[in-house]
Amino acid sequence: MTAHAWRNWSGLTTTAPTEVLHPTTTEDVVGAVQQARELGTTVKMPGTGHSFTGIAAPEGIMLDPSELSGLIEADAENLTATAYAGTPLHLLNSALAEAGLSLHNMGDIAEQTIAGATSTGTHGTGGVVASLSAQIAGLELVTGTGETIRATAEENPDVFAVARLGLGALGILTRITFKVEPLFTLEAHEFPMLWDEAIAEFDRMAEENHHAELYWFPHTDRILAKENNRILDEAQPVGRFRGWLDDELLSNTLFGVVNKIGNRRPGWIPKINNISGQMLSERTYSDVPHKVFTSSRSVVFREMEYAVPREVGLEALREVRKWIDSSGINISFPIEVRTTPADDIALSTSSGRESMYLAFHMNAQTDHTAYFAGVENILRGYDGRPHWGKLNTRTAADLEPAYPRWGEFQAVRDRLDPDRVFSNAYLRRVLGD
Ligand SMILES: Cc1cc2nc3c(=O)[nH]c(=O)nc-3n(C[C@H](O)[C@H](O)[C@H](O)COP(=O)(O)OP(=O)(O)OC[C@H]3O[C@@H](n4cnc5c(N)ncnc54)[C@H](O)[C@@H]3O)c2cc1C
Repeated sequence: MTAHAWRNWSGLTTTAPTEVLHPTTTEDVVGAVQQARELGTTVKMPGTGHSFTGIAAPEGIMLDPSELSGLIEADAENLTATAYAGTPLHLLNSALAEAGLSLHNMGDIAEQTIAGATSTGTHGTGGVVASLSAQIAGLELVTGTGETIRATAEENPDVFAVARLGLGALGILTRITFKVEPLFTLEAHEFPMLWDEAIAEFDRMAEENHHAELYWFPHTDRILAKENNRILDEAQPVGRFRGWLDDELLSNTLFGVVNKIGNRRPGWIPKINNISGQMLSERTYSDVPHKVFTSSRSVVFREMEYAVPREVGLEALREVRKWIDSSGINISFPIEVRTTPADDIALSTSSGRESMYLAFHMNAQTDHTAYFAGVENILRGYDGRPHWGKLNTRTAADLEPAYPRWGEFQAVRDRLDPDRVFSNAYLRRVLGD
């Protein structure tokens, strides 16, 4: 019997760690790893549990990240910022903004911890770099043998090459240093498009804008396009009422009600999507970057996201549409289309190749398995790589060929965690024992 319980955001994984510790220092983390070794058990620090997979699930000792949090230093001269690994992104974002700094790019939400987000390759769209991992300039981690290692491009470069996206399998991160930029104003332009036009225009949009993305409403031709660009003008934030209407009422409250109706009457979903698509309207606003990039999400859903080589991305999307149209499955959530430049991290989904990301969502009350299985089957055929934090059915044996630098990651894993004190069921599946 254990008194502890851990559950991820989507509610798909629950575990019962044997003990929960609350480290406040790197030394505490070293002590916890030593304790796990002595007991012959595992130790894991989850972030905020926003991964849909069981990647963060603690099976032995769990390290609560909440007291290993806060900005340590923002260096405006060298354009770096160092924070404790358990810092939630929204705290980092506001502390950086106060210091007149910002990350270059980020994903859709800011609830995650910086260690959790980087360990799975959390990304946005476009930019010079799109993932948070690729914005890391240095890190400190405690290895499976209780050693503390710092890694940058110059210091322990072999560790740096893999540990910026370590899946929680290489060590417990204690501090992360990001490359940052002087605070800038980001302008968002959101507007409706139709499928044929969006497919024809997307390459140009991605080329001409700093950050471009599409949300396609399945069973319809309707698309919401978003283009975010850096501007030199003063910020013109979205008005309070319009912000509440678009971001809270339409994206969360009303969307939640619409999903409940769709759950009861799945046959109505195509019509509902068409009506939602027709309600899309154009808007332009600007603000500090994190207020434009990120928003809140209160409707609980399940998600799978695949990265495919950029040049076949739109073709893959067209094939997915054909399959959805013939599948008979009703899908209420839009499909998100983003792009990233190539990066140099061994197990990054963008490692060595420019990528297009296609993200599929299903609300938590509907069985997602047939939908995700059908799409996954198509995207595997495009040499797709699944987001490590989002649902997938892949195994180490079939992921290895998708990553030319797989062996490099595994060699560092064998060295840093020879006894697999950081392992759990998900890591055994996707990385092997
Ligand atoms: C509503 C929602 C929106 C999302 N939007 C996006 C998006 O726009 N783009 C995108 O790419 N992803 C997105 N995601 C996925 C999400 O960003 C990732 O799953 C991310 O990993 C979650 O961070 P977390 O802090 O919750 O980490 P967790 O899910 O708790 O953990 C993830 C991994 O990090 C490891 N970890 C955590 N802390 C440490 C540490 N200190 N040392 C070593 N390992 C550690 C865990 O062990 C685990 O392996 C979204 C998820 C949700 C639920």
